Amino acid sequence: MKEILGTTGLVMNEPLLWEKGGNGRCGFSMPRRDVESSPIDEGLVGPVPDFPELSEVDVVRHYTRLSQWNYGVDTGMYPLGSCTMKYNPKVNEKYASLPGFTGAHPLLPPSMVQGALKLMYDLERFLSEITGMDTTTLQPAAGAQGELMGTMLIYAFLRSKGEHRSKFLIPDTAHGTNPASVSLCDFHPIPVKSNEDGILSPEAVAEVMDEDVAGILVTNPNTLGFFEENIREIGEIVHGKGGLVYCDGANMNAVMGIVEMGKIGVDVMHLNLHKTFSTPHGGGGPGSGPVCVKKHLEPFLPVPRVVQEEGTYRLSSEYPDSIGKVHGFYGNFGVMIKAYSYIMSMGPENLKKASQLAVLNANYVKESLKTVFNLPYDRPCMHECVFSDKKLNVHKITTLDVAKRLIDCGFHPPTIYFPLVVPGAIMVEPTETESKETLDEFIETCKIIANEAEETPDLLHDAPKNAKVQRLDEVTAARQPCLAD
Ligand SMILES: *Cc1c(COP(=O)(O)O)cnc(C)c1O
Repeated sequence: MKEILGTTGLVMNEPLLWEKGGNGRCGFSMPRRDVESSPIDEGLVGPVPDFPELSEVDVVRHYTRLSQWNYGVDTGMYPLGSCTMKYNPKVNEKYASLPGFTGAHPLLPPSMVQGALKLMYDLERFLSEITGMDTTTLQPAAGAQGELMGTMLIYAFLRSKGEHRSKFLIPDTAHGTNPASVSLCDFHPIPVKSNEDGILSPEAVAEVMDEDVAGILVTNPNTLGFFEENIREIGEIVHGKGGLVYCDGANMNAVMGIVEMGKIGVDVMHLNLHKTFSTPHGGGGPGSGPVCVKKHLEPFLPVPRVVQEEGTYRLSSEYPDSIGKVHGFYGNFGVMIKAYSYIMSMGPENLKKASQLAVLNANYVKESLKTVFNLPYDRPCMHECVFSDKKLNVHKITTLDVAKRLIDCGFHPPTIYFPLVVPGAIMVEPTETESKETLDEFIETCKIIANEAEETPDLLHDAPKNAKVQRLDEVTAARQPCLAD
């Protein structure tokens, strides 16, 4: 049997900064004081904080060691379903760090930031073209905020027609943020069941669609990794009763340059620039969730908007029906630069090819592992495939055990226990940037783990053994988080 990849090595333990260093140690030589010293008045500033005293090398080693405890796309495969953890080319970082961009203050007059405004203007148009929609706003900071904002557009649109509706349809294969977003906008989420193929049927939608439903929020491709093939017919049913179709486009990585959402009945959708358009994410860093709309929703988009007149760009707030602002200034500009750089460096043909490869890779993993794990929906998938732990349960092995054992073997675990329609789900999204060798290593490792489940189940129950932090008591970890060390 092939030796599995390990994760052991020179990984250092590291105390808190406060537990290191020594009195008077300093990493910086202050210039000689040329005024009288005066004590800090604690009455004015409060107690003086207890700053650690450290040398430069103490600080550099501290943060370098902490960074070595981390695992990211630059370390290895990160098949986290519904998250599109693709490799992000470094050229995007290079352009995002150009001094003209990093030094630009958002309050500079437009005449001094024509380049930045042009980039936003062009990016809006690129995204409209890629999705087949009419207009785009770059303001929302994440997918979930895009959902909320898109739902607010639907609310504003209906209100402009003198209507107030109270319900929103949410399929059972939706992303978890979808029902939360419509609830925040004061709609009541109504669940819709998917069929035996893992997609929505027009009949199921027709059954719950009525004149009190504002719209449907369809994650497409959905969280089972399937394209909602009936979306056009579903759109007709929803539109027929005066509702609108919102597409959660966070999984656009499967269909870039292939599906024009605007042509299949979608009124509004969001994209996740930090997933599909290549910005590193997962550590809570800035994201961007642009919202693309058809013409009828355009008047309600947030302000200010970038407008262009005879080659000159400016910001305009002259949109009386706008829902207002949803983010400080214009959104997360750094993420926009990376998306622009990614789109420009790929070009239309390669964007389409990226989607094709993402789909190919997911299907390769699905076909290679479908006899190893249980595959609840055995049909061609898009960007991700969903297995379950059904076959492993006879050995008292669960999805969590497999995920933890993968850590020992040098792979970031897939998304687990989601989507909820598959009990014990193992959701694998390999993305287009993994080579066949890496996919084969992952597949081989999964086969070894499935074999261990049968022969040496304790190896899985006790995993991870090679990682810095071993199996956690997840309940206590959630109920009594230890935030100090
Ligand atoms: C990631 C994701 C979201 C949420 O995006 P955030 O940027 O994390 O808020 C919404 N829907 C789907 C389908 C997603 O995959």
